[in-house]
Amino acid sequence: MIETTTAYAETPEHATSPDDMEATTEPPGGFARLGLSEPILRAIAELGYREPTPIQEQAIPFVLMGRDVLGTAQTGTGKTAGFTLPMLDILTGSRARARMPRSLILEPTRELALQVAENFVQHGKYLKLSHALIIGGESMSDQKDVLTRGVDVLIATPGRLLDMFERSGILLSDTRILVIDEADRMLDMGFIPDVERIVSLLPATRQTLFFSATMAPEIRRLADAFLRNPKEIAVAPPASVATTITTGLVLVAEHDKREALRRMIRHEQVQNALIFCNRKRDVEILYRSLMRHKFSAGALHGDMSQPVRFATLDKFKAGELKLLVCSDVAARGIDIGGLSHVFNFDVPHHPEDYVHRIGRTGRAGLEGHAYMLATPDDRVAVEAIEKLTGQPIPRIAVEGLDPVEWAAELGKKRKPRGRHGVPSQPGAKARAKPPASKRLAGKPSAVPTSEVTPARARRSREDDLGPGVLGFGDEMPAFMLVTARPSRRRVRASAQKQEKQG
Ligand code: AMP
Repeated sequence: MIETTTAYAETPEHATSPDDMEATTEPPGGFARLGLSEPILRAIAELGYREPTPIQEQAIPFVLMGRDVLGTAQTGTGKTAGFTLPMLDILTGSRARARMPRSLILEPTRELALQVAENFVQHGKYLKLSHALIIGGESMSDQKDVLTRGVDVLIATPGRLLDMFERSGILLSDTRILVIDEADRMLDMGFIPDVERIVSLLPATRQTLFFSATMAPEIRRLADAFLRNPKEIAVAPPASVATTITTGLVLVAEHDKREALRRMIRHEQVQNALIFCNRKRDVEILYRSLMRHKFSAGALHGDMSQPVRFATLDKFKAGELKLLVCSDVAARGIDIGGLSHVFNFDVPHHPEDYVHRIGRTGRAGLEGHAYMLATPDDRVAVEAIEKLTGQPIPRIAVEGLDPVEWAAELGKKRKPRGRHGVPSQPGAKARAKPPASKRLAGKPSAVPTSEVTPARARRSREDDLGPGVLGFGDEMPAFMLVTARPSRRRVRASAQKQEKQG
């Protein structure tokens, strides 16, 4: 259980852009224009926030006015402060009653809930407001004790909140502000029935703030049910890929994926990277494999205990671990920005997840790299991503691995599904050829190396990949030039051939 009552004298640990480093304690003009009060302006000035982000600029005045807000924004846009700052302002001045939180923020994961709590601590530094967290993995009786003393802001995951409600530890009849954050993720995780139940327990006259990274029809239906005449705000189209991110796609045989990843990590100047797998058990397998190969790695997935998850996260944030293998759910919304690399060990099933995953790198104008491993059966999923982002992902090659091509039977093996079981991007067309490498707008090169010269292309096994495909490494380190161990399939094929000949 985490309880906070005002006055935190910690030095804020983050600033999101190099400019922020020169933090000023003068109240930032942009924020003052939005109508926030002096104690809040002082706290954010100390954090180094100079100007509101677009979502903050648009949302804060309307939240202060008491309007409902429907915001399309993803993490990294500053959306959390978009609701915490005006909420603090609204809540200042009166006190909470026992077991009756005055406001409620629903988050899909414990990590996100903790992050929002951290925002309250930082932004509410000069206010006398209290907040509490109700999240899994913490003692129910401790949580009950804190609620009994009365809290202004309650931050909770839906399931745990209902557990608490059913044990009569909480009354929601005085909760006048509700925030539903990351609604699309709530939907993905099957939390919507719980959210609907919670909303039915709140007073009808309340202010509701609803945020989602995407506004799929099902999300809009929920928004219509929960909100009254909301102010609609949308920032940064969810499908956009920051221009500061260099992307690349490596097509490999399934059995070569781990080796390809190792080669890329060794070749790149990786300072810190998230490596995404689609399944929890693959997170564990890949993590163990990286450890066997002496990489500095940790793992994060939903089945791990909370203390282990936090400890791993802390080590990664402190730079003690260089690589963090994770699932989408575990990594969702965690404030680990400014990564040098994101590796998609698996092509995500939902194209939107690609955008979320790689958005962890290339933040605040810094150079980022996002590479994805695809196997021959992933063609439809890759094309769905390219269609969503409107950008082809340049093909890059890792030397010394079995050359492969897209599977001929397009779409038969694995069709990506949309979030709600609807096939994604039905219009995605098959490409006759792999995409030619492209330079991204405004960037010197979309790949980490120079282009393949005719001579290099001739001696490269990546000739097979088609024109314009780039090699992973101009000056190839020795380990990359070692011919790969023949694959089991090739050994078998050659044995069969010999048998026939014999
Ligand atoms: P969020 O999208 O809410 O997860 O915020 C992403 C990061 O941006 C967090 O580390 C925030 O502390 C930071 N941040 C939020 N608003 C601002 C701002 N106006 N100026 C600088 N940094 C900000």
